[in-house]
Amino acid sequence: MTSNIHDLTRTTDDVVIVGGGLAGLFCALKLAPRPVTLISAAPLGEGASTAWAQGGIAAAVAEGDSAEAHAADTVAVGGGIVDAEVALGLAREAGSRIEDLLRYGVPFDRDLEGRLAVGREAAHSARRIVHVRGDMAGKAIIGALIDAVRKTPSIRLIEGYVAEALLTEDGAVTALQLRKARDAGARPLLIASRAVVLATGGIGHLYAVTTNPQEASGLGLAIAARAGAVIADPEFVQFHPTAIMVGRDPAPLATEALRGEGATLINDRGERFMLAAHPLAELAPRDIVARGVFAEIAAGRGAFLDARQALGARFAEKFPTVHASCLAAGLDPALQPIPIAPAAHYHMGGIAVDRRGRSSLEGLWAGGEVSSTGAHGANRLASNSLLEAVVYAARIADDIAGQEIAPPARVPAALVVPRNGELPAASERSLRATMSAEVGVVRDGEGLADAVRSFAALEHDAGSVALRNMATTALLVAASAWSRRESRGAHCRADYPNEDAARARRTMTTLDAARDVAAALTTSAPRNAQAMIA
Ligand SMILES: Cc1cc2nc3c(=O)[nH]c(=O)nc-3n(C[C@H](O)[C@H](O)[C@H](O)COP(=O)(O)OP(=O)(O)OC[C@H]3O[C@@H](n4cnc5c(N)ncnc54)[C@H](O)[C@@H]3O)c2cc1C
Repeated sequence: MTSNIHDLTRTTDDVVIVGGGLAGLFCALKLAPRPVTLISAAPLGEGASTAWAQGGIAAAVAEGDSAEAHAADTVAVGGGIVDAEVALGLAREAGSRIEDLLRYGVPFDRDLEGRLAVGREAAHSARRIVHVRGDMAGKAIIGALIDAVRKTPSIRLIEGYVAEALLTEDGAVTALQLRKARDAGARPLLIASRAVVLATGGIGHLYAVTTNPQEASGLGLAIAARAGAVIADPEFVQFHPTAIMVGRDPAPLATEALRGEGATLINDRGERFMLAAHPLAELAPRDIVARGVFAEIAAGRGAFLDARQALGARFAEKFPTVHASCLAAGLDPALQPIPIAPAAHYHMGGIAVDRRGRSSLEGLWAGGEVSSTGAHGANRLASNSLLEAVVYAARIADDIAGQEIAPPARVPAALVVPRNGELPAASERSLRATMSAEVGVVRDGEGLADAVRSFAALEHDAGSVALRNMATTALLVAASAWSRRESRGAHCRADYPNEDAARARRTMTTLDAARDVAAALTTSAPRNAQAMIA
């Protein structure tokens, strides 16, 4: 059911879900027949990372594999701060959620005996990635769920609207403010609700180079933080080492499987630079390869993925998606090395949630990439993100289904941000460039301090609500990265290159704490600011 938008200001809603990716769609379906309103910034199927997932979902469903082994792998890559119980809970629920997805019509690949076919990915000790027609998992999952959602009369769909603020009273959510997407003159609208689920995805688009869609610009995280929610681990951002640099934004991805097939990483002199960096060379962990690629580019030697020998004429058949991206840019990857760079890919941090998906604000749940459950620590294990999205979406639906949620007494009259919805292109470009330069693959105290000061000023002064929300999330990431004076997982500080055992804990912070860091960096010695973030 698609809503007449003019109804919005007159309705109060039981449950409002923001986001049309795996987490949002799955949660809405699980809540049926309870009426829910689902809001998506882009038309369903667009503007969601889910649709672009090429690998699949990690699930210990094969003979000989176990949830315990899956959880142990998750803990091993997470830089010492994964919540082991959370990881085990995820791994244990994977099989049931895959069954659910099959029931909603996702055609996961099967072997000759009809069992789920499982593939292997880096850092998994067993074959456990369920997939669809090779690299089509994301498209197939989102396609099946959209079909199911459109056939479910209890789900009211509002497509092409951006959530921009949460209203609260006494620490409890009372309403969501939204505005028509890509319409500079649009007036904000309010939906009153005491149960809001944020499932708005990641933050990759805050960076100049990213694999994420434009809608992944950290708005969900910002509106939760502005309403006072606790934010966990914002400094941990995973960079994919091989985004294809052919002038496209977002950058197309050259999947890790290419390196698995023997493609090498070279600089403009033809040298395989990863040989000196790690014993596994191109097959080293993702963060190490990303740093290797970053270092070559920073040294002015460029970085390229060379599949000429390993694949040559077989490239088009084995990797049709990557092949098409290269050809569209006039590059034949069978004959030429592919220019690459590390790109912001996945956010381990997000709105802090408990095992039911509840945030620190009453009436606010968060699921999928916008949340931080503790499952990923400082580094995500490949294919655990779709798993986390589907497991927590189901838990949130269960939690909400078990509650009597009193309808809001009235639609609140006041808007939180009566400013314009336009996003000034030059300011957006500058924010993204600062994130890539100062809060990127390799960070240092001076650059982070500059970034914190500039995001704090923007967050305070921006006349555009969209820009202000982007600056809010950017500030949280930069302030926590500044405060974490060590290198851990995906967070690499050139000035603190080692792990510090005393800091082996998750970050729990708030927007006020990030603003305090900025204030201290602006007015006094950086040392004083350290105490302001936990
Ligand atoms: C290229 C690529 C490949 C990947 N491959 C894999 C893989 O193989 N396996 C794996 O596990 N993970 C993979 N990931 C990560 C994974 O896809 C995501 O973490 C996951 O899909 C997130 O799901 P989600 O529902 O939280 O968010 P998304 O799927 O990103 O959906 C977010 C939704 O929220 C909407 N939205 C955002 N902000 C607002 C707002 N303010 N108001 C209204 N709506 C809003 C968006 O339009 C979208 O509908 C990949 C990611 C990328 C980018």
